[in-house]
Amino acid sequence: MSGLYLHIPFCQKACTYCDFHFSTSTRGREGLLDAMERELIQRARELGDAPVDSIYFGGGTPSLLEPARIAAFLQLAHDLLRVRPDAEVTLEANPDDITAERLAAWKAMGITRLSLGTQSFRADRLAWMGRAHDAEQALRSIALIANAGFVSWTIDLIYGLPGMTLAEWDEQLTIALDHGMPHLSAYALTVEPRTALAHQVRQGRTVPADDEATAAQFDHLMTRMKAAGLVHYEISNFGRPGHFSRHNSSYWEGVPYLGIGPAAHSFSGTTRRWNVANNSRYTAAVEKGEPFSETETLTPVQRTNELLLTGLRTHRGVQLDALPVDIRPRNEQRIVHYVAQGLAQLEGGRLVLTERGRHFADRIAMELFAEA
Ligand code: SF4
Repeated sequence: MSGLYLHIPFCQKACTYCDFHFSTSTRGREGLLDAMERELIQRARELGDAPVDSIYFGGGTPSLLEPARIAAFLQLAHDLLRVRPDAEVTLEANPDDITAERLAAWKAMGITRLSLGTQSFRADRLAWMGRAHDAEQALRSIALIANAGFVSWTIDLIYGLPGMTLAEWDEQLTIALDHGMPHLSAYALTVEPRTALAHQVRQGRTVPADDEATAAQFDHLMTRMKAAGLVHYEISNFGRPGHFSRHNSSYWEGVPYLGIGPAAHSFSGTTRRWNVANNSRYTAAVEKGEPFSETETLTPVQRTNELLLTGLRTHRGVQLDALPVDIRPRNEQRIVHYVAQGLAQLEGGRLVLTERGRHFADRIAMELFAEA
């Protein structure tokens, strides 16, 4: 199995908290998209004969492209790769780009899953985040997606916002559940360096939420989703059975994938590669046939630690005897301690975190890390 990721690095507006690679300028857009097609043609053979189980258009905001441009990428992928007939094909879309016409075009070209960047259903929060859509568009886009016959879709919501109460978060979840979402990605707001939000915090204009309030919202999220029948299959992801993201699950399970576009990452099973995070440098380098990426070969220790970090965040946990480096001898006592503390369970050699343990997933993974 393998996956294909296409990074579309353009957005309508810059959200205050975002540190992804994107540009709000339309200059050079067509040239960059041409370069991405060229990169896909040049690198398709890296996936060999592995069947492609998922294609993911991320960004940035891929939904702002003309549908014909997305269809052309898909056609190229089908021409160059062994895309499975039942492959999951996801498009990230922002509510302000959703129209009945676009939805029909996306469905006709083979998009099977939409990931909607809702973030909040409240006007004041959306304005504060600098989002390009308003609360009405957030709700209307969901109704349009359901009407268009998309079975699989997901929304993003953010918690841990400054001053957010449990009642506000509960209301957000109620709205989402009332609209029948089959999948939710919920993220705690983090203040990333070099963002407008970080600047606001430095100036004292914004006071980040405290950790206790954010942890209480995470607990509430788990309780509400469980009661509604959504499985907590990754720390930030909840889905009804049959609606888990196959593409993201393959990242967490270490499946190889090809990443196309500026800032896109690729993984071969042993090496990780990342493209330059600069639109004009990327386009020029692809055009001239010059290098535009860096590559790192992962050691067994690095590979083990990556699998711990990603695997412990999932409901399947980590199969300890399948790790490239056996971490059991040096962690025997630790694992017994986690189980005794109710932070983890051992299920047939798999270490799986409990609901309580999920609060500390990264810390536990780092404590278990293999040593170089
Ligand atoms: S739309 Fe998404 S990628 Fe673009 S700035 Fe906002 S959060 Fe970042």
